Amino acid sequence: MYDIIIVGAGPAGLTAAIYAKRFNKSVLILEETTYGGQIINTLEIENYPGYKNISGFDLMTNMYEHAIELGSNIKIEKVEKITKEKDIFTVKTNNNEYKSLSIIISTGAKSRKLGLPNEEKLIGSGISYCAICDGNFYKNKDVAVIGGGNTALDDATHLADICNKVYLIHRRDTFKGESYLLDSIKNKSNIEIITNTNVIELIEEDNKLKEIIIEKENTKSNILVSGVFVAIGQIPSSDIEITLEKDKQEYYISNDCKTNIEGLFVSGDVRSKKYRQLTTAVSDGTIASLGAIEYIDKIKCDKVTE
Ligand SMILES: Cc1cc2nc3c(=O)[nH]c(=O)nc-3n(C[C@H](O)[C@H](O)[C@H](O)COP(=O)(O)OP(=O)(O)OC[C@H]3O[C@@H](n4cnc5c(N)ncnc54)[C@H](O)[C@@H]3O)c2cc1C
Repeated sequence: MYDIIIVGAGPAGLTAAIYAKRFNKSVLILEETTYGGQIINTLEIENYPGYKNISGFDLMTNMYEHAIELGSNIKIEKVEKITKEKDIFTVKTNNNEYKSLSIIISTGAKSRKLGLPNEEKLIGSGISYCAICDGNFYKNKDVAVIGGGNTALDDATHLADICNKVYLIHRRDTFKGESYLLDSIKNKSNIEIITNTNVIELIEEDNKLKEIIIEKENTKSNILVSGVFVAIGQIPSSDIEITLEKDKQEYYISNDCKTNIEGLFVSGDVRSKKYRQLTTAVSDGTIASLGAIEYIDKIKCDKVTE
């Protein structure tokens, strides 16, 4: 029996583990793949306070070692189901079953992909899913943003201040994003809007993106770009079998990281919220962990006085 089981070893989960261990709680982290989460393969991070520039691998290895050296246990298993009976949670993975007094789900989110050949290979070498994070690496270059919602419009506006030229490519003729964002796009002379168009190929040279092939009304053409920012939405990793409340996009609903199930907390990108960044994930990890610690201390205290 553990005090806290944390699902996911990304920034939110590892931060939660560090806080829980510093309160002397027993902690098991269950991670489906490897520690580090979405950021692990990012070559350069320039907005994590305390580091002017650090790779995703170095930042997350530091966080991982911090959590492990304090005494957290980690197992590489995918969590499939969580149930609660009286005060005890049972966590079923693809391999085992574990019990705990409290749970923190920090399973993050995944960017929706274009689904094109070369896409995975070119992540970090021309393909990005985060303009705020990676835009500066394409200073004075030509880039494309793909998408039609607020994120795509925001990304194009942000990139127009950094890059030489921004192609905003959308598969429909109208944008879903808010009209004030569209107005600001139209005020930027270096943004070219291309509608009713699909990106159908990513062409590489020396393992870097060189150009994209687009298709409009059965006519194909090419655009030379150093970067493509894919902004076609994110998918939360919220497929664990559990009766948690979710919003329309399937993110877990919480209040100060507390959920509708007492003793079960959510933190990081999987939570319904506006901004999904490293700093907001570690903030959530802290809040969820302190909430879980308070909850455990209360039920342990109640048991002693029964
Ligand atoms: C390419 C890229 C670059 C980025 N760059 C920046 C940047 O420069 N600055 C910035 O602030 N933000 C950046 N971000 C955003 C940042 O990475 C996320 O906000 C942050 O990683 C969220 O942390 P998290 O712990 O909530 O989730 P994640 O990082 O998504 O970690 C979740 C973990 O849970 C695991 N998991 C999922 N389901 C299960 C399951 N069922 N069982 C067990 N484990 C499971 C996953 O394998 C993963 O390891 C970037 C994102 C991407 C994709």
